[in-house]
Amino acid sequence: MHPTASVPGVVANGDTPAAPPGPLYQSPFRRHRTRVVVVGSVPIGGDHPIIVQSMTTPDTHDVAATVAQIRRLEEAGCELVRVTVPKPEDAHALTEIKKQITIPLIVDIHFDYKMALMALDHPIDKIRINPGNIGGMDRFRQVLRKAKDKGIPMRIGVNAGSLEREFAMKYGYPCPPAMVDSALRYIEIAESEGYHDLIVSLKSSDVATVVEAYRLYAKQANYPTHIGVTEAGKPPYAVIKSACGLAPILLDGIGDTIRISLLGDPVPEIQAAFDILQATQRRVRQPEIIACPTCGRLEIDLEGIIAQLEQRLQGRTTPIKVSVLGCVVNGPGEAKEADLGIAAGRGKGMIFKRGEMLRTVSEAEMVDALIEEIDRWEKEEMASGPALASPPGSSRRKLPLIGS
Ligand code: SF4
Repeated sequence: MHPTASVPGVVANGDTPAAPPGPLYQSPFRRHRTRVVVVGSVPIGGDHPIIVQSMTTPDTHDVAATVAQIRRLEEAGCELVRVTVPKPEDAHALTEIKKQITIPLIVDIHFDYKMALMALDHPIDKIRINPGNIGGMDRFRQVLRKAKDKGIPMRIGVNAGSLEREFAMKYGYPCPPAMVDSALRYIEIAESEGYHDLIVSLKSSDVATVVEAYRLYAKQANYPTHIGVTEAGKPPYAVIKSACGLAPILLDGIGDTIRISLLGDPVPEIQAAFDILQATQRRVRQPEIIACPTCGRLEIDLEGIIAQLEQRLQGRTTPIKVSVLGCVVNGPGEAKEADLGIAAGRGKGMIFKRGEMLRTVSEAEMVDALIEEIDRWEKEEMASGPALASPPGSSRRKLPLIGS
């Protein structure tokens, strides 16, 4: 007997008959259901895109340096910016900074609740405090009342490194349940003041702690989350560490705003955040190019083609997956999975669009042909709305995208 003869669906000559079309696979992805909190003009939570933010590094009272850095962040795509206010002169600079920038301004407070009260006299858009390090819950309540009066939202920033002793002692050390207990307690206090404009973060420099803390929190509360791995260190390792900590929770549907903490200039934090959102398909704001690593079977100048493609796609915001593979081993399969793809072989390439083969082009024509198809794709997307459905009966996987 042929070794495969008894395997269901496999005939004796080893050919697999075409499978009957089954139901379209549905991704189990569900986003953590959160209420919406509006920061300036930017809604956070609910079904809104995950917002990318950063924090400035100059002294906040140095208005020129702070504004110059915020403008560079804005140019890079930063959507919310936070400044620290440790001294009265920093609080006094807030009105002037706010006048000179276009994105919402967040104030970061540690230790001194008076700085929070002072900052709230300025036209800020959100305040971030760790209620555990401002000297007691009476002070926290004073800040809550003033934020409520002014209509300013607040982030409760729980950090494993500065967790209140009471919570750390309950579990022996600042573990995820201790962090979540502490966040829930602060939420309870805020709610008792009739204040609900909350965003919550549960940060740690330990990746596993971050993942567990956000997962635990998401089961128990519906205030939006600010996600991040704190004190991640120096890039590129810090970007990898952040991706390791944030990808699991993003793929669980958790996270409404994101900050990647990198040592040094904050501008690279923005690209890193968008790259992590793109790789997890949680928010895509530029074409994603999929290329094989190349090997001895390579039949085209793949590196050259990818370099040209990257250069010509700079500045494009279309959330499209474009794959270019160097030979016929995986090329056709990958090209069918992408929105647009080229499966190359011996100086030629077959162009696929949404799983359908369009035409064959020569190696020299590949980049022009792909750009032409991307232009056409953009026009079709504009005409049909952002959520272009998979063709009926197609097995092509389409993860839910949250566009810019
Ligand atoms: S697609 Fe082809 S050339 Fe590229 S890595 Fe795979 S086998 Fe090698």
